[in-house]
Amino acid sequence: MEILYSSTRGNGQKVTASQAILQGLAQDGGLFVPERIPAFDKTLQEMSMLSYQDTAYEVMKLLLTDFTEEELRNCIRNAYDEKFDTEQIVSLVQAKGAYYLELFHGKTIAFKDMALSVLPHLMITAARKNKAENEIVILTATSGDTGKAALAGFADVDGTKIMVFYPKNGVSPVQEKQMVTQKGRNVSVIGIEGNFDDAQSGVKKLFGDQKLAEHMAQKGYQFSSANSINIGRLVPQIVYYVYAYGQLLKEERIAEGQKINIVVPTGNFGNILAAFYAKQMGLPVAKLICASNENKVLVDFMQTGVYDRNREFILTSSPSMDILISSNLERLLYRVCGNDAQKNAQFMDQLKEQGTYCASALLAEIQNDFYGNCASQAECAAKIKNLYEDTGYVIDTHTAVASVVYDKYVEETKDENITLIASTASPFKFTRSVMTAIDQAYEMQEDFALVDALSAISNVSVPEAIEEIRTAPVLHTKVCKKEEMKQMVEEFLNL
Ligand SMILES: *Cc1c(COP(=O)(O)O)cnc(C)c1O
Repeated sequence: MEILYSSTRGNGQKVTASQAILQGLAQDGGLFVPERIPAFDKTLQEMSMLSYQDTAYEVMKLLLTDFTEEELRNCIRNAYDEKFDTEQIVSLVQAKGAYYLELFHGKTIAFKDMALSVLPHLMITAARKNKAENEIVILTATSGDTGKAALAGFADVDGTKIMVFYPKNGVSPVQEKQMVTQKGRNVSVIGIEGNFDDAQSGVKKLFGDQKLAEHMAQKGYQFSSANSINIGRLVPQIVYYVYAYGQLLKEERIAEGQKINIVVPTGNFGNILAAFYAKQMGLPVAKLICASNENKVLVDFMQTGVYDRNREFILTSSPSMDILISSNLERLLYRVCGNDAQKNAQFMDQLKEQGTYCASALLAEIQNDFYGNCASQAECAAKIKNLYEDTGYVIDTHTAVASVVYDKYVEETKDENITLIASTASPFKFTRSVMTAIDQAYEMQEDFALVDALSAISNVSVPEAIEEIRTAPVLHTKVCKKEEMKQMVEEFLNL
C-alpha cells in the first residue's frame, strides 16, 4: 500500500516519498512524516537470515513506496559496498553487559555514513522519477559528522551541488580537517562564527526564503537537505536496528519476539527517532534510552514535559551532540499528539518565539517508550578509561555518553533486558579526547601521534579516513558570520 508524506505543521497536502526526499523540508517549515507507519511484512526470524543489503530493501520498500524494486535495490547496492570496511556493514561487539552496535564502518567513520551513503542515490533517483530539471543544491548544517559524510556522498555527483556550514569553533580537529580537505568540483565548505543551532536555524531560514527560491529556480537550481530533517536520512537508519536484532536472534542471544532496550547518544533526535519508527513497525523494543551530554535539553523535556532552549550552549567533548534545538523531536510530538499538525505548529511557534513550550499532556505517552538521562564530560572520560582497562575495548566520546546513561538506567530500574548501545563514531575521530581520558599524559602529543598511539593500545589499525587527512591539503578556508549565509549561497551559485 502506498505511503504518502505530509508536513508536521501542514495543511494536509500529501506528497510521495520521492517528492519528500527531493524537497527535504516542507514549504511551511515543517518536516515530512509518513501518514502511517507500516508493519514489517516478514517475520523477524525470516529477516534474521538476510544480508544487510536485503534487510535494507525489506525495510525501505515499506516506507519508500513509490520507488520500484529495481530502483531501490540499485540505490542499496551502490551504497553498501566496499566503502564499508566490514562485509556486514555494521558490527556488534559485546562488552560489559551490553552490545555495542558499531555504526562507524563507512567512509567517514561516523554513523552518518549509514544514511548518507544511500541518500545521494535516492535523491538522484527521486529527481529522475519526478522529472526535476533543476540542479539540486544540498544545503547542510553540521555539528561535525553530517558535513563530511554528506560531502563524501555528494562530491562530483552529476546534477548536484553541496554546501556545508559548520560551527568554526565547535567541531573536533579531525572533523574539521576531514571537511576542509574535501575534493570535488561541486562542493563548498564554510565555517560559521556561531554554534550548530545557529547553522541549523540559518539553513532552515534559507529553505523558507521564497525570494531566494524563485531566484534560484530562474538559474536552474533548487534546494534539498542532507540533514536528518530529510526523511531520506531517517528511513535508512531504521535498517540497522532491525539488522542488529536479527543478528542477536541468529546467534541465539535472544528468542524471537524478546524485547530489547536501545540506547542512543542523541543530538538532533534523528537516530533515536529511527529506532522509535523501528519499534512502531514491529521491532520488539522495551525502552528507547535517550542519552544527552551536558546540553541536556531533551532529558529535561522527557522528565518534565517542558522543552526549554533558553540556557547556555556548552561545547563538550561530544561535539556532534552539542545541540539545543533537536529538530526531529517535532516528528515525535506530531505523532504522539495524534498527527495533529495544528497543535504541533503551535509548539514550534512557541519554540521559535519564546524558546520554550510545554507538552506535559503528552508526557505519559512519551515516557511509555522513552527514558532520558545525561552524562557529564568527566563521567564520559571515566567510562572510556574504565571500559578500556577492563576489556581493552575503546569507545568514542559520544558512545561513552550512551554507555554512562545506560549504567544510570540500570542502577535506577534494575531492568535486565538485553541492550543495544548505538556506537556512533570511531574513537579515531575524537582521538584527543579519547586518549587523554585514558591517560592525561597523552595531552602533550600532537594529533597524529595520538592516532598512532590509539591504534597501538586498541589493536585496531588506523582507518583509511584518518590516513587520508594526514597529508591532505586544506582546500576550504572560508568563514562567515551567521547573517552572511545567504550571501555565501549567492556567491557559490553565481546568482
Ligand atoms: C550526529 C551524531 C550523533 C547524534 O545523532 P542525532 O541523530 O543527531 O541524534 C551522535 N553521535 C555522533 C558521533 C554523531 O555524529
